[in-house]
Amino acid sequence: MSAPPQRSENPIDSDTLERISGAGFEAFEAEAILKWALDTFHPRIALSASFGGPEGMVILDLMHRIRPDARVFVLDTGRLPQATYDLIDRVRDRYGKAVEVVFPEPAAVQEMVRRDGMNLFYESVAKRQLCCRLRKVEPMNRALAELDAWVSGLRREQGVTRAGTPKVEVDRAHGGIVKVNPLADWDTDEVWQYVRDHDVPTNRLHRVGYPSVGCDPCSRAVKAGEDERAGRWWWEQPDTRECGIHVDEEEDGSGI
Ligand code: SF4
Repeated sequence: MSAPPQRSENPIDSDTLERISGAGFEAFEAEAILKWALDTFHPRIALSASFGGPEGMVILDLMHRIRPDARVFVLDTGRLPQATYDLIDRVRDRYGKAVEVVFPEPAAVQEMVRRDGMNLFYESVAKRQLCCRLRKVEPMNRALAELDAWVSGLRREQGVTRAGTPKVEVDRAHGGIVKVNPLADWDTDEVWQYVRDHDVPTNRLHRVGYPSVGCDPCSRAVKAGEDERAGRWWWEQPDTRECGIHVDEEEDGSGI
């Protein structure tokens, strides 16, 4: 991410923290939450968009309407499908937005693939989590270290690991910054209705059966009736299917 401003010492006051810790934001619509977040934290707030789900694109559109200079970043793991790179460029054209691209540390990835191979993620949960840690979690930690708040597209409907997602929370796993999940209570139909109503660009792999697009080797199309995230790390049990970015270290104990 380019030219990061320094983190504020006290990004939020104690009253706000109290509201965040409770259910104060639950009654607010996504747009109102984003307006509050941008008014409070810009330019030290950014949307983390994977460009692999419609949720991030909906939020990007909402944020752009509130502040055209709202920031968005993407983690380029080096294993993303071409459709995702194409969408990043479409967003640049459509919104005139300089998407901030964050890369993994080359030396760490080089050492991992030398030792464990290019496709280590299929061999065990531990190796899959190692790959996610080096290609996603560590770059994410670096990106978030420059921010006071971040915005994610998590929704409660997306599976067992996301059912308890609040709309606004304190992200203890990332230094106590604020994490905003404005679409937490949206269902899939609401997301796609917004996409259609506002002609929001989305990943073309959604049209061939991918509700959620991650890295190319770790995503597949889902069958009718399957969970939305069934195509992500499909060879694992549902309770391990997270990259680690959205897992609270204190609750999970693993940090990844
Ligand atoms: S999703 Fe797959 S390729 Fe991407 S970082 Fe995780 S294990 Fe590696």
